Amino acid sequence: MADGSIKCPECQSENPLDAVYCMECGCKIGKVNENIYKKVKILAVIGIFIFLPLAIIAGLYLYTRPECSVKRKGMDYILISIAVWVFYLAIIIYASFAIHQ
Ligand SMILES: [Zn+2]
Repeated sequence: MADGSIKCPECQSENPLDAVYCMECGCKIGKVNENIYKKVKILAVIGIFIFLPLAIIAGLYLYTRPECSVKRKGMDYILISIAVWVFYLAIIIYASFAIHQ
């Protein structure tokens, strides 16, 4: 009977293995959620340290070109990069909060 089910640490009731929340008391079960948040956090960190510097460098390169239309495109790159950076940062903060909950 224990196979294919997981016990809730709070109320000891049996739940399906893939359950994220207990069906009886609604508390968080297992480490499924935590692992997902950790993966999301790693991806966000990779985005901040690899993707964004490249995007900003590309934006700065375009921005220093003399052509006006290219210059504007470079500014767009930089603004989008900053927006994505803030978004990633929010994800990391949220993921950290979720893991320690
Ligand atoms: Zn429970």
